[in-house]
Amino acid sequence: RTMYVVPFSMGPLGSPIAHIGIELSDSPYVAVNMRIMTRMGKAVYEVLGTDGEFVPCVHTVGAPLEAGQKDVTWPCNTTKYIVHYPETREIWSYGSGYGGNALLGKKCFALRIASNMGRDEGWLAEHMLILGVTSPEGKKYHVAAAFPSACGKTNFAMLIPPAGFDGWKVTTIGDDIAWIKPQADGTLRAINPEAGYFGVAPGTNDLTNPNCMASLHRDVIFTNVALTDDGDVWWEGMGDAPAHCIDWQGKEWTPQIAKETGAKAAHPNARFTVAATNNPALDEAWDDPKGVKIDAFIFGGRRSTTVPLVTEARNWVEGVYMAATMGSETTAAAAGQQGVVRRDPFAMLPFMGYNMSDYFQHWLNLGKKLEASGAQLPKIYTTNWFRKGADGKFVWPGYGENMRVLKWMIDRVEGKATEGVEHITGVSPRYEDLNWTGLDFSAEQFATVTSIDKAAWQAELKLHTELFQQLAHHLPKELPETKAAIEQRLAA
Ligand code: GDP
Ligand code: MN
Repeated sequence: RTMYVVPFSMGPLGSPIAHIGIELSDSPYVAVNMRIMTRMGKAVYEVLGTDGEFVPCVHTVGAPLEAGQKDVTWPCNTTKYIVHYPETREIWSYGSGYGGNALLGKKCFALRIASNMGRDEGWLAEHMLILGVTSPEGKKYHVAAAFPSACGKTNFAMLIPPAGFDGWKVTTIGDDIAWIKPQADGTLRAINPEAGYFGVAPGTNDLTNPNCMASLHRDVIFTNVALTDDGDVWWEGMGDAPAHCIDWQGKEWTPQIAKETGAKAAHPNARFTVAATNNPALDEAWDDPKGVKIDAFIFGGRRSTTVPLVTEARNWVEGVYMAATMGSETTAAAAGQQGVVRRDPFAMLPFMGYNMSDYFQHWLNLGKKLEASGAQLPKIYTTNWFRKGADGKFVWPGYGENMRVLKWMIDRVEGKATEGVEHITGVSPRYEDLNWTGLDFSAEQFATVTSIDKAAWQAELKLHTELFQQLAHHLPKELPETKAAIEQRLAA
């Protein structure tokens, strides 16, 4: 096989927030994907110089070819090791050719290794999208949001404001990962370490995410989608099914075959790889080495009950508590089956590079440090787009309509929406605090997605207790203290 040497910068070249990696790989798929997903090439060596720092990333598909042996389309090995060495900051990956196992700049470097660098150096590597939101008066704010995988990061980062929000604009800085460094003036500045999107294709369509679809017209690598007879691509949830296509495994596929066998045309985890510059909503500062100033953080899981549409933490510690105890439902395996709630602190469970409780402490320390510098801390919100009604359907329309919630957050940042409802975990908007122009959504429906059910919260807090037992090693005392305060409010 050919060995590819891939020098890459995670973040704008030469940015004080960026870091460099070099990946060795025997996979051409890795080389071309890294070309899109990172700033890759000769210019990286110029930044690196002769003694610059970089994270070594070694990757092989684990399928050596004998002389004369015919290759297969997807070489890999049934034995796979994806190994991170936080002490020496290096990554070794064997046996897999796919996604985060092979594109080592993404989850391996930008989250697992980088979270270690962040701990040692006082910054944050987070599983967060970054967006810019501009008001009709031209004021601009930046929000970083952590949603667990498949909970709407890419969609939210490319949001198109709905009718009733004339003059508002949302622009994308990143859709998956944020590197955030505190500045001397007490502000936090963030970059997207990536240069492209490696997104899930199935379910992506013109109705829910038109900006994303518009990004996919040219220069895209599609993986495990279906191939139509006219040489185009298709996946479940894109729109009308083609009469015939070749499925992701290279087999014939028709709607009839799907009906009889349940075969999917595209793999449920089929992906597109596309440069950020293809995105019509790309923020003008997306490649700015200085990064953007963060005004608010959002944490949001997928919960059919219990967690209200939006809550603002009363302070940094309460925000860290809400992020640390965030839960999300696994998508139901069988129809009617309730999703199982899994705790996913900060949406970082699969990506955390060191002891989770030390990471909570790191966030608390950062808050104290920023506070001491006299700066205004970013506000912290939790959201839940996924509450369901008695009919089992999502009550909140979501997608572009999430702008209504985002605007309330901006109103709060600006000090405009000063009233709200104080409840056990923070402050939520009243019905009249949101702009409803262009949407038919009643006060009753609003109550369905914002109500606090005391019994449900008592059960929820038991799960927080379980989580804290699991994470007892070095658990910051502020977290059980915050829980006790919530329990008191609940009992009142
Ligand atoms: P990511 O993995 O966090 O980037 O999530 P995506 O943006 O790819 O979305 C994952 C899934 O959630 C897709 O099926 C989306 O259609 C769906 N989704 C995204 N935003 C919303 C929303 O606001 N409401 C609802 N009901 N579904 C959403
Ligand atoms: Mn995504």
